[in-house]
Amino acid sequence: MRYVSTRGEAPVLSFEEAMLTGLARDGGLYVPESIPQLSTDDIAALAGCSYEETAFRVMKPFIGDAFSDDEFRGIIARAYEGFGHTARAPLKQLGPNHFLLELFHGPTLAFKDFAMQLIGQMFQTSLARSGNKVTIVGATSGDTGSAAIEAFQGLGNVDVFIMYPHGRVSEVQRRQMTTPDASNVHALAVDGDFDDCQARLKDMFNDHAFRDEVKLAGVNSINWARVLAQVVYYFSSAVALGAPHRSVNFTVPTGNFGDIFAGFIAREMGLPIDRLVIATNQNDILHRAMENGDYSKRGVTPSISPSMDIEVSSNFERALFWAHDKDARAVAELMNELTQNGAFRISDNAMAKLKAVYDSGMADEETTSKTIATTLADTGELLCPHSAVGVHVGNDVSASASGTPNITLATAHPAKFPAAVEAATDVHPPLPKRMSDLYQRSERITRVGNDLSELQSVIRETRQS
Ligand SMILES: *Cc1c(COP(=O)(O)O)cnc(C)c1O
Repeated sequence: MRYVSTRGEAPVLSFEEAMLTGLARDGGLYVPESIPQLSTDDIAALAGCSYEETAFRVMKPFIGDAFSDDEFRGIIARAYEGFGHTARAPLKQLGPNHFLLELFHGPTLAFKDFAMQLIGQMFQTSLARSGNKVTIVGATSGDTGSAAIEAFQGLGNVDVFIMYPHGRVSEVQRRQMTTPDASNVHALAVDGDFDDCQARLKDMFNDHAFRDEVKLAGVNSINWARVLAQVVYYFSSAVALGAPHRSVNFTVPTGNFGDIFAGFIAREMGLPIDRLVIATNQNDILHRAMENGDYSKRGVTPSISPSMDIEVSSNFERALFWAHDKDARAVAELMNELTQNGAFRISDNAMAKLKAVYDSGMADEETTSKTIATTLADTGELLCPHSAVGVHVGNDVSASASGTPNITLATAHPAKFPAAVEAATDVHPPLPKRMSDLYQRSERITRVGNDLSELQSVIRETRQS
């Protein structure tokens, strides 16, 4: 299996190389040259398998010879052993035709743990074998960073630096990044918003001298291995509801488009997914783009679902690559327009391709709060604000497609966003017992300006190797 860049000008890589690299050298994102298929029989045989066994069978065709079968089974077992639920990704019913996929039972209470725990084990296995060391730098709106710090803390061959927007993450998110005391993990509070953090990260990757000097590696949702890890729960949940003999829809609370793009990969592999529905908060650039083909930035307004407060939705580039029949030059042109003008127009042809797969919907702040309250009253389920955005949109999807069940992804635990949940319901969501001392642990924070050379100095001076 070979991986190519969405912009067509970077070296073709193996799975292991693409994983260790993250962003391609031409500024693009790595994607598999072709998508392996699972037959109807292969999918039917997943019924009753453990999450780990499903993960092995779904991901194996993508990793080539990066790991032996025994190594890969060990990686998967270690990745998910710290989860607080044996099903790993349990399904709950919310109403007729509407199901909730709980992706928040990992160590930092958000779906990001599924990919980050796996990629941590993959990096460790790969680097221990080669004796190499890398510096991982990530940008986070909250959940990626905590998941990365949790997954990589104490691993000998890796230094981790996570940039987050100062003052714009929840206290639980911040504490999960700033309280681990391993000397190889560092939280950097940047004076800016999430898009600034993401832009500085791209700058670092595009500074090839710095990139080589510190052996920069990326674990943001642009990293192909993360997308791949997320493909697994589309299979496990769809099979639980009758796939391959029955189609399903998925509604996905969306920001950077990594999670929903994993659903697209599952669909391309042969899983009978009818619609993939993009659910956005008030920062609805993707919803607007799906309605009229106009992808244009307006500025980010902070919301109660901060992990979706995004305007440059990086993985959308992968969707555009497929919508343009893998024409890397067309994708590179759109991305240049976005950098220069803050906007681009999607051609009618590409829009038709996107609309064949994706629908979209939006929940503003008031609707999100109301959905938290009504879902608690109607089902007893306490939702985090991101999941509530999804459930609001998913309610419409499940009502309009009566023969096809809708699965809405619950992307974080309500206790990760207690202020918004309490404001909506008067119920204080308690942290699970295994992390109940989080508010007592001491924090370690480095405050940095929104400035490339300042960030680079901090990284050069702090890293261990
Ligand atoms: C990251 C995140 C999202 C958005 O996922 P993308 O893959 O960036 O689209 C939604 N909800 C929560 C809780 C998240 O942490």
